[in-house]
Amino acid sequence: MNARRPALDIAVAGGGMVGAACALALAQREFSVALLEAREPAVWRADEPEDLRVIALAPSSARLLDELGVWRGIEAARVSPYRCMRVWDAASGAGLAFDAAREGRAQLGWIVENKLVARTLWDALEGAGVRRACPAQVETFSQREDRVMLDLAEGEPLSASLLVIADGAGSRLREQAGIAARGRDYGQRAVVAHVATERGHECTAWQRFTAEGPIALLPLRDGRSSIVWSLPEARAREMLALDDEGFCAAAGMASDFRLGRITATTPRASFPLRLQVAERFATGRCVLLGDAAHAVHPLAGQGANLGLRDVAELAATLGDEHDAGRDFTAPHVLQRYARRRRSAGTLDARGFDAIERMFAWQSPAWTAARGLGMRAIDVLEPLKRRLSAHAAGTT
Ligand SMILES: Cc1cc2nc3c(=O)[nH]c(=O)nc-3n(C[C@H](O)[C@H](O)[C@H](O)COP(=O)(O)OP(=O)(O)OC[C@H]3O[C@@H](n4cnc5c(N)ncnc54)[C@H](O)[C@@H]3O)c2cc1C
Repeated sequence: MNARRPALDIAVAGGGMVGAACALALAQREFSVALLEAREPAVWRADEPEDLRVIALAPSSARLLDELGVWRGIEAARVSPYRCMRVWDAASGAGLAFDAAREGRAQLGWIVENKLVARTLWDALEGAGVRRACPAQVETFSQREDRVMLDLAEGEPLSASLLVIADGAGSRLREQAGIAARGRDYGQRAVVAHVATERGHECTAWQRFTAEGPIALLPLRDGRSSIVWSLPEARAREMLALDDEGFCAAAGMASDFRLGRITATTPRASFPLRLQVAERFATGRCVLLGDAAHAVHPLAGQGANLGLRDVAELAATLGDEHDAGRDFTAPHVLQRYARRRRSAGTLDARGFDAIERMFAWQSPAWTAARGLGMRAIDVLEPLKRRLSAHAAGTT
């Protein structure tokens, strides 16, 4: 090893779904990469019931995972394609219907366990030549003229030409890089549980917007549905404290019994919700991606999908410079990535925030206007197709 050069081209801090996908994508572009993760991702097992954390994966994400060589394994293991989406407003009764068949697609996306995606990526790292370090919590880092020096809680310090910060929504490394984040705490929690329903889910993602927040019923492969119910903190705590019967009755009411009576099949969990977008996605020799760069409301099911789009953009931007023998850490290169993804991420984050606000306002005049607007959009097929293509990441 040349002692004057950093040990690695790129160090990725954080091995969640986004950081692991990033390490894999960069290794495919011939960079020397290390992934530093504080806690090893849980092992996924086919004989265990579906994990409570599931996400809706968009076609753009499945495409990236396919390019990384892991999608087939994930798809074969356990995913649930959803072919339709029904969104409706409790107050006005108006709704929007999206149908994959009408758009000439087999499905709109897939409901997948986070754990399955994260662990499959993790297991693929070594075969791709990524140096996987775990437990390896990055405590601090310092930027030098030609490298970033990383201090780990365990083991020797590391040097790399570039640091990718992917340590999630509570990113301490983003703060250390001197990047602030703007947004707001929704004062809400998402309550999640897997439930059985009286009627079949019809491979449809159902979401009803109520005055308190949206409740989604996402189709699982075994016929059950996964509830993601965003509620004000106090109400969420009430829902968590109820017995199964009380919770299912409340969830049934909130979803207007669209799938009939609900029966509990798992315990419940909850996650705090906030909107947060970093003011910059790059500084010096550091770039941000995933939830460390943007955390969004789950109502559109897009957080991880946005993160995986960051990965695709970063790997393409850096990879093209590397292939051409140019300095991939040059400020204009990192800024190109940062500009593109910050602008796309901010637009989406603000868009989801606007939807959240739009359904939170309940004045009679506003409710009537919202209902009219939704009914108008529902019959405008070209506009719906554009919205759907945007969610799919195919625009
Ligand atoms: C209720 C809910 C529903 C959601 N539904 C959807 C959906 O339907 N579709 C969708 O696309 N998204 C959804 N999301 C969002 C999605 O879950 C996140 O966007 C995604 O998991 C973020 O991944 P990440 O890798 O950026 O961060 P994380 O998963 O938070 O990973 C960060 C990793 O960094 C590690 N780490 C932290 N600090 C350090 C350090 N100092 N050194 C080393 N490692 C460190 C952590 O251990 C962790 O493994 C949902 C979110 C919630 C809460």
